[in-house]
Amino acid sequence: MVKLDTFANANALIAARKPEQPVVGFRPHAAGLAARWFLANFPGDVAYAYKANSSVFLLGALYGAGIRHFDVASLPEIEDAKTIPDATFHFMHPVKSRHAIRRAFGLGCRSFALDSEAELKKILDETSNAKDLLLWVRVAVPAKNSRIPLERKFGIVGAQAARLLVKTRQVAKEIGITFHVGSQTVTPEAYAIALGEVKALIVKAGVVVDRIDVGGGFPSRYSNEMPSPLSEFMAVIRHGIEALPVADRCRVMCEPGRALVAEAESLIVRVDARRGGDLFINDGSYGMLFDAAHLGFVFPIRIIGRDVRDPHVLAPFELWGPTCDSIDHMKGPFLLPDSVREGDFLEIGNTGAYARAIAGHFNGYGHYDEVILQDEPMFTMYGEVALAVAGE
Ligand SMILES: *Cc1c(COP(=O)(O)O)cnc(C)c1O
Repeated sequence: MVKLDTFANANALIAARKPEQPVVGFRPHAAGLAARWFLANFPGDVAYAYKANSSVFLLGALYGAGIRHFDVASLPEIEDAKTIPDATFHFMHPVKSRHAIRRAFGLGCRSFALDSEAELKKILDETSNAKDLLLWVRVAVPAKNSRIPLERKFGIVGAQAARLLVKTRQVAKEIGITFHVGSQTVTPEAYAIALGEVKALIVKAGVVVDRIDVGGGFPSRYSNEMPSPLSEFMAVIRHGIEALPVADRCRVMCEPGRALVAEAESLIVRVDARRGGDLFINDGSYGMLFDAAHLGFVFPIRIIGRDVRDPHVLAPFELWGPTCDSIDHMKGPFLLPDSVREGDFLEIGNTGAYARAIAGHFNGYGHYDEVILQDEPMFTMYGEVALAVAGE
C-alpha cells in the first residue's frame, strides 16, 4: 500500500503545497468511528456496501474497526476484495451474469440476492445446486424521504414474492429477505414501512425466514440536509424486527455504504475564476461533484489556506466545473465568505460516499492527489455518541 502524506488539516496541506490537481483528503479515523458506532448499535451483522468507496485507506479503517461482512455488487468488486482476510461476501445485486455467479462461488461466496425465478435458476445452475447457499429475496419497498429512491429497478412484491420465497426455501440452506429503502433516507419511517411489508409477506408465504437484511440508505449530513439521529433509525429497526413472526430466530443484517464513509473524505479544489456569484473550480460534475450537480447535494464548504477576514459574512455561490460542458454546474447555493477569489483553495466536505467512485476522465480531468487528514469531518452524524464510543 502506498503511504500517503499526512496533514493536521487541509490548511496545513495548502501551507505545505499548492496542489495543481484536486486533492482527496482521507479521514480514515472518521470511517473507523462510524463503523464502531454501527457495530455497537445495530442489532446484527454490519455489511459495508463496497461500491460506496473502495479506497484501501478507508477499507483498512473499516476492517480495523471490526467490519467483516461486505455487500458487493459486481464481480470486479469481489475480485478486488477477495484478499481481505476472514471476510464474508454477500453478492447482493439481483441480476448477475452466469460467469459472475460461477466465479464468485469459486472465490467462496455463498450469499446471493435474487428477485426472480430466472435468477434463482441461474444461481442453482452455476453453483451446481450447491447445498450451502444463503439466498436473499429482494423485495421492493416504498421510498420515503430518500434522495435517491431505488425501488423502481429491483425487487419483487405480492403473490410473486411469496411464490419466489417458497421456491427459494426448497433449495437454499438459509433464506433471507432483503430490501433497500433508497440512499440518503433522512427519516426512519421508511424502515418501519418496509419491515411492515416484510411481515405481511412472511405471513402470506408461510415460510420460515432465517435472515432479514434492512439494506443501506442510512443518511449523512450535508448543508441542506439535517437527518434524524442514527439512534432513531436503530430504534425503529429494532421495533420492526421484534414485530416479525420470525423475530426470535432470525439473524439481522444491514448494508450501510454512505453512512460509514461519507464523512471520511474531503475534496480540496482551487478557484480558477470568479465571476460575481459564479466560481469556476478544478473539479465538477464529471469528477467528484456528480451528486451536487445532478441530485442537489449541497456539500459543506470552506475557504482554506489563508486567513479569511469575514468568515461569518457569507454569500451564496454557484460552482462550475473544469470541463467545457455547461451541465458541469453545481447550483448549490454554496455559502462562502464574500472575499472568495481566484487562487483560493476550498475544502468541500463529506464527499466520501460515491463521489470518487463515479468520477470519470472527461476532458482529461478526474485525476486526484491523495493525502490523509487528521482533523474531524466538517459535519458529523456521530457527535456525542461518537465521544461515548471513543471513551470506552
Ligand atoms: C448501494 C447499495 C447499498 C448502500 O446504500 P447506501 O445508501 O450507501 O447505504 C446497500 N445495499 C444495496 C443492495 C445497494 O445497492
